[in-house]
Amino acid sequence: MSGGRTVIDRTRLAALVERERALFRERTPRSRALAEEARSVQIFGVPMPWMAKWVGGYPLFYAEAHGARIVDVDGHSYVDFALGDTGSMPGHSPEPTVRAVARRIGELGGVTTMMPTEDSTWVAGELRRRFGLPYWQFALTATDANRFVLRIARQIQRRRRVLVFNWCYHGSVDETVAVIGPDGETAPKPGNVGPQVDPAETTVVVEFNDLEGVRRALARRDVACVLTEPALTNIGIVLPEPGFLEGLEQACRETGTLLVYDETHTISAGPGGCVAAWGLTPDILTIGKSLGAGVPVAAYGVSQAVLDRIEADDEGDYLDWGGVGGTLAGNALSLAATRATLAEVLTDEAFVRMTELATRYREGVQAAIDRHGVPWCIVQLGARAEYHFYPEPPASGGQAAALIDDELDDYLHLYTLNRGIVMTPFHNMALMCPATTEADVDLHSEVFDAAVGELAG
Ligand code: PMP
Repeated sequence: MSGGRTVIDRTRLAALVERERALFRERTPRSRALAEEARSVQIFGVPMPWMAKWVGGYPLFYAEAHGARIVDVDGHSYVDFALGDTGSMPGHSPEPTVRAVARRIGELGGVTTMMPTEDSTWVAGELRRRFGLPYWQFALTATDANRFVLRIARQIQRRRRVLVFNWCYHGSVDETVAVIGPDGETAPKPGNVGPQVDPAETTVVVEFNDLEGVRRALARRDVACVLTEPALTNIGIVLPEPGFLEGLEQACRETGTLLVYDETHTISAGPGGCVAAWGLTPDILTIGKSLGAGVPVAAYGVSQAVLDRIEADDEGDYLDWGGVGGTLAGNALSLAATRATLAEVLTDEAFVRMTELATRYREGVQAAIDRHGVPWCIVQLGARAEYHFYPEPPASGGQAAALIDDELDDYLHLYTLNRGIVMTPFHNMALMCPATTEADVDLHSEVFDAAVGELAG
């Protein structure tokens, strides 16, 4: 059957979720015991809040992770398509990175001093080669890279607002925890924890792919910069429609607005992210997560024109008290890890293979969707692919958010987890790393097909 004619039977779905939840509990007694113990000393029983959202009621505790595999504390081995939500896109503990980290921390010594190492210059040069922006600096997280560039943009522009897209995610950056409210105006994202000011004061929110909306918002000329991913990846994958990014760049140029691309996730499009793959020309670029194969590091790059304006600005204190920077940012360990990862792991050749694997993954998922006639679709962005529980890819974050189906999410996450596959929590996103194999992808195709088959009846 094809053409999306199968209606999901919610009673059957609820029963399947229950069955899979019971199976999960049965398979993971050690994780369950550790989770119970963790609750006695950690807030929500987890080291980071979102880990409490793992499907199944408690997180899996893992013992080891190598390449594309994770082994949990109950001894089960999983193919990992979550890859630390991109932090481990180079694979878990890739050998060149391990070697460089061990050498830096052990043989050479000196994780953090108040001095640079030559690795920083190598890495900045490599980021220039990949993304085209000439000058770089480092942070520890993509959140921080974004926070720093928003400050820089406001400072050199002498404008106070930023524009982001509805249901974007750029980390825990105050200005971006905002959505379009019911009246069409900027509102705090539902559940925004203790916003320091009403985001309406700092932020304009527009729908992705709404060029008219962008033009209207920028016409007021109070927006310092637009901060966006070239394709949204945190509310499913929302690809830009033809002409949208060109129009966005033009609207920015015409209104003197800086354009910042956050390539933290969209680096899946290729070694230089969407910027290189699609020929984009931002003023500023941020990236975090993957660069150090999980060792904390992030970077931001700026154009010559932006650097000139930073250097000419005698009011902002960029070097000391001004609010940009961090003690551990740019530390020698992060940069040793990044140099090895970029030079030897996340190479141009690796991206070719990873993208081929993601294509194989997409085809496997599509075949199951077609075979069982469910009204779903799948979107690929280079080495990353994500299926959606609706027939057409969404055009905006708002559209995608309205169509989230938590029960289907739970079912597929549990079903795959119980059969040796880790998907990215709160998404249906799969990412390939250099160590992912065809057999890993085929296992997913098989398990996904079985899951959909049981659901479709
Ligand atoms: N930018 C994007 C596009 C992201 O997806 C994320 C995290 N999912 C971040 C920034 C923030 O990364 P971090 O939490 O590592 O600071």
